[in-house]
Amino acid sequence: MTPRLLVIGGGILGMMSASAAAKAGGFSEIIVTEQALGPSGASHYSGGVHFPYGRQDRTRSLTRKSAVALAAMAGSAVSGWCRPLAMRVVAGPGEAIDPAQFTGPLDPAEPDMGSLAPSFCDDTRFWSIAGAHVADVPALIAQLQLELVARIRVAHGLRCVRLRERGDGAEAEFATGEIISADVVILAAGPWIVEAPFLELTEAFSIRIKKVVALHLDRTSTLDDALIFMPRAEAFLLPQPAAGRWLFSYTSTDWDVRPETLACGLSRADLEAGRAVLERFCPGLGRDLTSGRVFCDAYSPSGAPVVARLAAQSCIILAGAANGSGYRFSPQIAREAVALAAENPTASTA
Ligand SMILES: Cc1cc2nc3c(=O)[nH]c(=O)nc-3n(C[C@H](O)[C@H](O)[C@H](O)COP(=O)(O)OP(=O)(O)OC[C@H]3O[C@@H](n4cnc5c(N)ncnc54)[C@H](O)[C@@H]3O)c2cc1C
Repeated sequence: MTPRLLVIGGGILGMMSASAAAKAGGFSEIIVTEQALGPSGASHYSGGVHFPYGRQDRTRSLTRKSAVALAAMAGSAVSGWCRPLAMRVVAGPGEAIDPAQFTGPLDPAEPDMGSLAPSFCDDTRFWSIAGAHVADVPALIAQLQLELVARIRVAHGLRCVRLRERGDGAEAEFATGEIISADVVILAAGPWIVEAPFLELTEAFSIRIKKVVALHLDRTSTLDDALIFMPRAEAFLLPQPAAGRWLFSYTSTDWDVRPETLACGLSRADLEAGRAVLERFCPGLGRDLTSGRVFCDAYSPSGAPVVARLAAQSCIILAGAANGSGYRFSPQIAREAVALAAENPTASTA
């Protein structure tokens, strides 16, 4: 009998998983349930940047494999959700760069970064590297949904309030009262994964939720501007010419936040933390960071995404905790989740 697959969460990981399952075949039915109307979680806020970088073997492997898949998808896209980007890697004064963390060759470059070039400290070093792009993540999700409309059911406004293993499969109950039984479940609830009804199922993975902030820099950018990546600071400057600005993403240190409490927008501390990071590279530019976006993402203890059964023979597969890189790793996370979903766990552990 071919299994019935339920995907919980309609963000980029849930929709990529549904798409991968539809392409792989072998499922009698694929259902995606999403509590909101369209992507409202981390995927809604995502900067959509893909760059050829990973701090460990696992994330570099995900980077390589996902880059190939995203390029193939962008090639067939009709809505133009993807824009290739030139990219510069930047080392500030006294900082070292590890070329082994990049999945392509780094070539020394001149400080030719268009409008922002004069803002960088004199002793900054630059390299160029190929392979970056920026995606409109909600537009990609909309495209996936359009492609899948005849093959899967996407149910919006269905909030899962209970999820449990039952017999050979699982049973999910929704706030509407609907109960959906499935042979296998991919749980892609983003930063809601540590909340009811999922916490008791996922506690063993020690996933934590961290704030993610990307600030808007009020300086014009052009289509020729490169993505500027500061690996030691885990920060980047993304040109957003259509919006007449740059997006500055830096690493927040606010742990154990919750999606519900971030709807109140940026705090003064968010702005000040971002300004302090940017000023290390571009003195005087921090004051032009005035607005932005704030949400959160799920992070794993290992620094690599989690794609795993809840337990050895569980039919529930967790796909998430992509540590602020869930867009760029999404095709490969989805592929791995679907491969697990297609396996019979009893057979694989016998
Ligand atoms: C500001 C910001 C910038 C970022 N920039 C980048 C970037 O440039 N590049 C990159 O690769 N990554 C980036 N990320 C990270 C990336 O966006 C996330 O890792 C990715 O979107 C996670 O996708 P997801 O599907 O796991 O989660 P989500 O997008 O949060 O989706 C989870 C979905 O599950 C639904 N859900 C939750 N609970 C339930 C329930 N009980 N019942 C039904 N549905 C439920 C939610 O409504 C939500 O839509 C950024 C993140 C943020 C916040």
